[in-house]
Amino acid sequence: MTTARALRGPFDYRLPEELRGGVVEVGSMLVVPFGRREVLGVVVGLTDSSEVSEEKLLAPLRALELGVPVDLVILAEWIAAEYCSTIARALTLVLPPGAARRLSGRKRRAVTRSPHLPVGTRRPEPPTLTADQREVLQSLTGALIERRPIGDRPKQRLLHGVTGSGKTEIYLRAAEIALGQGRGVIVLVPEITLTPQIVGRFSERFGDTVAVLHSRLRPSERYAEWRRLRAGEARVCVGPRSAVFAPIEDLGLIVVDEEHDASYKHEGDPRYDARDVAVQRARSADALLLLGSATPRPESTHRLPSSLLPHRVDGRPLPDVQVLDMRGETQGLHPLTAQALAEVRGERGKAIVLLNRRGWSNFLSCRSCGRVWSCPHCDVALVLHRAGGYVACHHCGHREPVPARCGECSSTSVARHGAGTERLAHELAGVLDDGGFPVFRLDADVVVAADAAVLLRRFEAAESGVLIGTQMVAKGHDFPDVTLGVVLDADATLRFPDFRAEERTFALITQLAGRVGRGGEGRVLVQTIAPEARSIMHAARHDSNGFLTDELERRQALCYPPFSHLIRIVCSASEAARAQAAASAIRVGLEASPPGSNTSVLGPAALFRLRGRERQVLVVKTAERRPTVRAVGEAVRRVAAAREHAGVNFSVDVDPQ
Ligand code: ADP
Ligand code: ZN
Ligand code: ZN
Repeated sequence: MTTARALRGPFDYRLPEELRGGVVEVGSMLVVPFGRREVLGVVVGLTDSSEVSEEKLLAPLRALELGVPVDLVILAEWIAAEYCSTIARALTLVLPPGAARRLSGRKRRAVTRSPHLPVGTRRPEPPTLTADQREVLQSLTGALIERRPIGDRPKQRLLHGVTGSGKTEIYLRAAEIALGQGRGVIVLVPEITLTPQIVGRFSERFGDTVAVLHSRLRPSERYAEWRRLRAGEARVCVGPRSAVFAPIEDLGLIVVDEEHDASYKHEGDPRYDARDVAVQRARSADALLLLGSATPRPESTHRLPSSLLPHRVDGRPLPDVQVLDMRGETQGLHPLTAQALAEVRGERGKAIVLLNRRGWSNFLSCRSCGRVWSCPHCDVALVLHRAGGYVACHHCGHREPVPARCGECSSTSVARHGAGTERLAHELAGVLDDGGFPVFRLDADVVVAADAAVLLRRFEAAESGVLIGTQMVAKGHDFPDVTLGVVLDADATLRFPDFRAEERTFALITQLAGRVGRGGEGRVLVQTIAPEARSIMHAARHDSNGFLTDELERRQALCYPPFSHLIRIVCSASEAARAQAAASAIRVGLEASPPGSNTSVLGPAALFRLRGRERQVLVVKTAERRPTVRAVGEAVRRVAAAREHAGVNFSVDVDPQ
């Protein structure tokens, strides 16, 4: 028995007579006395004996009506070990939404259905599959139908298909087969508000048996969907990463759409990766795991057998991509970009422009003393948001009014450097919007005020216009009338000091190109000061196999994933010396008892100050994951318990993104 709070647990309780004999089983949720409080607990095991003496054992107060399926309790145990967390924290992932709050009992959670589900909608005839699609589906059918002994070879497939090649139709047909076998289906998508189309297609095809989980649902709606799944009324769950914990019994298929998307990694504790959790869940349920993308991760290409869909469904070619060298250019737009946008306006067409940086200017500086406005809590520059009238830190959220004068020298001359989406949208509106060619903006700032889906529908409904935004504009949108795509400052993502920088840049350009020419001709312009970068050259040729081969060679040479596992340990404190002392102590601890021969520790190295805390990072590279995760956990616990490291915070991230 363990509680839903971040306690070490499990703890022993004595079952009273009325809860014995199968009433309570693994996964049951119980209200138990804990100290002076009542807390919610989940049964993780039943036993005849306890190390606690009979008189000291307390009894639970009552059992809740619905518990968690046993296999999700086992999955939580796996997550705790895999991501260096505790079983209590891992269990919070698999509990029904709002379980802890319902316990407080003040208000009873009316159960309401989600209004987003079109109930009993018409079901359009599914299209006839293309030859390529038929072949892929055939190759999946065996795995969907045959049942193998648990622990047998896992059923896994990577569906590597270019944008618009009909991957979603494969997911739908595979789901149909699984449902026909009486088995359930989970479909993971990166972000429902940005890609409502896929939810619509599942609901259209399967009606009420689809439950949808997403961030905009109210807690009562979320709980209602969870109950429908738990009761078996709904057998398909579509949702973001947390939907991998949907309480579906006898799972036959897990789909991970856009498997390259970074949102599958959870940034809170436990820092789980929904793609790896899906691997584990599919394996233990004997379900087929189907990962789909036009830009799969090198890890997936390396580990999984692939099925290919190399052509768009309608046989249309992918758009021509032209790389524009911006070295020596002084304007923000290359002359060819300006001309192409003017042409689209002339033809009353549509264009999408990607600039992966929000705000008006990247930073402000004083023209007389050179001071840069930076965050008081983090070592980063503040970004100007002109319409809002403030400068903001994009790391901690700190805001202050736009400065009128320099705090050092009192000069009123403030320089604005660089351009983000706010400024670009403003400037392009000045040039292009002469009535009838509107400029739409999509980034995290406008999405706070309006629903992303509403903004996207406005662009879709417009007769012509241009959509400007951050990486949000490159998600799986399907607008048939977009003929021009533009990527500005394409190498911005390459400048991050991260071994995934190339992969991200390649994916961003390729995904944007995927939004273009879906209903006819199209072209893409990529502005960059790094025209020879591998990721940009391969993206311009639509050569994802070439890119993946190169990238895997590089990863192997440098011993990066998938050829090793990384564990990142961050120590933070109010003073740099304290953070560094703690990080060094962890390093010493790891070196004193190395978990395996193929393990190396890098660092400590300083990270920039964040939220007022100085940070030091260690990176552990290893070939042996489990023992190393355990050794890191122990080393961190020992250092955290030592008095000389009081006040230092620790975070451990296995498979950091
Ligand atoms: P992807 O997920 O690979 O981007 P989709 O499954 O969204 O591709 O397919 C792209 C478009 O082609 C969609 O509008 C879809 O309805 C349509 N489509 C998919 N398969 C077929 C088919 N076999 N015949 C006709 N249209 C199809
Ligand atoms: Zn100054
Ligand atoms: Zn800050």
